[in-house]
Amino acid sequence: MGLVGRLSGVVGAAHVLTDPDVVAGHAVDWTGRFRGAAGPVVRPANGDEVSRVLAVCRELGAAVVPQGGNTGLVGGGIPYRGEVVLSTTRLAELGPVDPVTRQVTAGAGVTLAALTAHARAAGMDFAVDIASRDSATVGGMVATNAGGLKVLRWGAMREQVVAVEARLADGRVVGPHGLPKDSTGYDLAGALVGSEGTLAVITSARLRLVPALAERATATLAFDRTEDAVAAIGALRALPSLTSVEVFFDDGLRLVCAHRRVAPPFAVAHPVYLLVECAADADPTEALGEVVAGLAGLRDSALAVDEAARRVLWTHREAHAEAINALGPPVKLDVGVPPGRAAEFERDVRAVVAEAAPGARLVLFGHLAEGNFHVNVVGVAPEAEADLVGRVLAAVARRGGTISAEHGIGVAKAPWLGLTRSAPERELFAAIKRAWDPTGLLNPGVLVGVADSARELAHPADPVASSVRD
Ligand SMILES: Cc1cc2nc3c(=O)[nH]c(=O)nc-3n(C[C@H](O)[C@H](O)[C@H](O)COP(=O)(O)OP(=O)(O)OC[C@H]3O[C@@H](n4cnc5c(N)ncnc54)[C@H](O)[C@@H]3O)c2cc1C
Repeated sequence: MGLVGRLSGVVGAAHVLTDPDVVAGHAVDWTGRFRGAAGPVVRPANGDEVSRVLAVCRELGAAVVPQGGNTGLVGGGIPYRGEVVLSTTRLAELGPVDPVTRQVTAGAGVTLAALTAHARAAGMDFAVDIASRDSATVGGMVATNAGGLKVLRWGAMREQVVAVEARLADGRVVGPHGLPKDSTGYDLAGALVGSEGTLAVITSARLRLVPALAERATATLAFDRTEDAVAAIGALRALPSLTSVEVFFDDGLRLVCAHRRVAPPFAVAHPVYLLVECAADADPTEALGEVVAGLAGLRDSALAVDEAARRVLWTHREAHAEAINALGPPVKLDVGVPPGRAAEFERDVRAVVAEAAPGARLVLFGHLAEGNFHVNVVGVAPEAEADLVGRVLAAVARRGGTISAEHGIGVAKAPWLGLTRSAPERELFAAIKRAWDPTGLLNPGVLVGVADSARELAHPADPVASSVRD
């Protein structure tokens, strides 16, 4: 019996998708930039079926790409060479919220929106929030160490993970261990955070919850200079209720307003905007207003007076990704620099893009409290792409930054890992990959093992060397 027949024997024929039109949707990413070719898409219903699917694939030598909501932005969940796509969407079980530990167990295929609704129904909340919340899954968010809009207050996905249950490439189970305290050796769950599907298939995660905070104050602040916006964060941090500080610029705001047909927050354009949100049990509006009144360099501010106004302020920031995508598939980089160097880096990146891709359109936005910029460049000639990416990432490295603050490495940045991860660190990465997945069954070419990357041909032979030269 062939691969499809064997997989059907495990999950049922209805859950092995082979229709070319259907599987094609699993072989392209959200931006349309990463396209591949899927083999069968298999949808196991539980951890045991995941193990048996992996055993079949291993026996028949079929590589496996774990896929959750397929909202990843670094091409890490895309099959490039006919690999089996292991879709986790049916691993959607949500356990009861435990009020004693304030934890919940969620299947890998649970969407962020479903997890958040579940936590709120129990009077609590989930700390991580990202704009792709309706599709992004718990497994994908653990696998990419997703960050998002509230990292400044609660941390990224890593800080929320208590335990992970996963299936190794040979089908064996690891985890979960969900005790509040546990000092028994290596942090295996931690190794899976940010593993991007290269070590094991995550089947569920035990997650921390945070208190539900009923009162919010949301404001957009306008500045002439990014330096002033960065300095404002220091003053805003005096507010214990501070939850989000997001940055965008006037070109991005105009794009969003045209795309979503919403009005801008101010009658007059300003170069830099911060979207600030506070959340607390008692209304934080007055406290926010007092701090805002004392901010140096502030040109204007718009406070949301009700939920509808709050949604509009958030739309200005959250609709950036879709408005940019509507222009065409962007070169998308998610980089982080020490927040104190964010203004210098912004200048760097504008200069680098103008030189490496003249005529292309650059739109920046991001999570300024973490120095995390999303660099989007639309209209880059394919032959100029690798040079552009290399130069931007080299500028990040020069400023002591990271080539991925929250999206991961995937295939998009695998050739440049050496810019910010040393040789001993990359050797450990390779050794960890071999220890967890000795036959290289899972996600070939992602994060480690660039030699096998489908993207390798599109990049120079030694991109790190060529990037740091400029
Ligand atoms: C509009 C938009 C806004 C976004 N905003 C943010 C943001 O603010 N912050 C942020 O961090 N990200 C953001 N993202 C990126 C994306 O949503 C996250 O990376 C998310 O964590 C991916 O989840 P997913 O379920 O879609 O994973 P997928 O895209 O399906 O997969 C992502 C990676 O995880 C692996 N993977 C998936 N499931 C599993 C599993 N069960 N076991 C092992 N490996 C697995 C895949 O192989 C792949 O390498 C955004 C994306 C979009 C489209």
